Amino acid sequence: MSLPVVAVVGRPNVGKSTLVNRIVQSRDAIVHESRGVTRDRSYHKADWNGRDFVIIDTGGIESVKSKDTFAPRIREQAVMAAEEADAIIFVVDGSTGITDEDEEVAKILRKQDKPVFLVVNKKDNPATENDNLWDFYSLGVGEPMPLSATHGYGTGDLLDEVVAVLPSEDELEDDEDVLSLAIVGRPNVGKSSLANRLAGKKRSIVSDVAGTTRDAIDTMIEWQGQRIRLVDTAGMRKKNLVHEDVEYYSMVRGLMAMERADVCLLVVDATDGVTEQDQKVANMAIDRGCALVLCLNKWDLIETEAQRDRVVASIDKRMQFASWVPYVNISALTGRATDKVLQFAVSAAQARAAHLRTSELNNLLEEIRQGGHTVSDKGRRLKMQYATQTGSKPPVITVWCNAPDLVDDNYKRFVENRLRERFDLVGTPIRLRFRKKS
Ligand code: GDP
Ligand code: GDP
Repeated sequence: MSLPVVAVVGRPNVGKSTLVNRIVQSRDAIVHESRGVTRDRSYHKADWNGRDFVIIDTGGIESVKSKDTFAPRIREQAVMAAEEADAIIFVVDGSTGITDEDEEVAKILRKQDKPVFLVVNKKDNPATENDNLWDFYSLGVGEPMPLSATHGYGTGDLLDEVVAVLPSEDELEDDEDVLSLAIVGRPNVGKSSLANRLAGKKRSIVSDVAGTTRDAIDTMIEWQGQRIRLVDTAGMRKKNLVHEDVEYYSMVRGLMAMERADVCLLVVDATDGVTEQDQKVANMAIDRGCALVLCLNKWDLIETEAQRDRVVASIDKRMQFASWVPYVNISALTGRATDKVLQFAVSAAQARAAHLRTSELNNLLEEIRQGGHTVSDKGRRLKMQYATQTGSKPPVITVWCNAPDLVDDNYKRFVENRLRERFDLVGTPIRLRFRKKS
């Protein structure tokens, strides 16, 4: 299920970051953080009254004296936020009054059709919170709400109103029969070419479906009776970002797409091989429990043995931590093996949804015991008693044992490898838990 997005905008020093930190509180799960020249924004997960959402802190766009240089930046920030968000929190400083920069932001927000919440911050004293409050009404973006980000006054009321306008869970609920596929990777590796291939005429495009963030367009395709949603194909078409750091944008976009995907197609340019950035993205997909297929695109350009060796070496180096990820040599340009991509994706999704029989799991444990493979420390020896699958998508396998603390990464990997030999788990991460038998 995807999460609605709330963006916090405003000129520098009004208290945006302070407010975001308060809303996020201990849930400091930063989805992504980046410092750029033109912008510095971070994505956090937050929740209020049981509603989960992503909050974007558009952060410290540096204060610039010249209005000429300031204007494009503030515009870019507000436009980006409005594009991505389901709701916008516009922060102004109640201790200084309206500035030209506030007017600038307001002007942009008035042109958008997203709900805007005007927060008058630094109202630390509730007794005087209404002083000068109504001045801000002239910004033309609705009723000003007094708030103190440092003390927390007003944040509850604000969040009540914000979550009330977010898309309902029903609207965000995904259809169980549909396989959601995110195509991720660095710019220019061929993501949109691949998406176009996959959505080719043969496969009867069912429809373009609006995603949660309003400009996220998903494409539905059907392949061998399986309905497949290509998540956020609009993000891949997006080529008109003048000021935006394209690398960063496609990364964030990919992250958001992953949040609602069953399977990630990680596209790499075979002429570059798998890069460190690709490795990071693979890790993030695994953390989110996505199945993964590595697509080595532009294979039409790979002609020599040496080039081939270089690609393979990069896979060995960067993907060793997840050697269960299948890879396929493709060319979105010629169409080479693009059908195979869907085949791999569908099998990876099936593996991710696998139900492992308890009896077979325990047969395997018995074999490991008989093989004498265990760990011990200071006279204590690990005894695995019983295993069962306790979760799905991706599979979670819990092993009850006498001493979970003895299990180290090596041993975990050993057990995971044995599981992968026994069951068809190609393309899916698995979670292995060791619990003390009570
Ligand atoms: P941003 O640039 O908009 O993200 O602003 P920051 O969150 O970094 O805050 C700028 C300054 O305003 C910092 O010194 C904060 O401590 C201060 N500040 C933020 N919120 C409040 C508030 O509610 N009351 C007061 N008095 N100061 C605040
Ligand atoms: P994206 O930024 O990842 O969506 O990449 P695009 O799909 O826009 O492709 C970037 C460039 O690579 C374009 O010029 C494509 O024509 C080219 N390209 C994409 N796939 C292939 C391929 O398989 N082989 C070759 N030779 N070029 C490709």
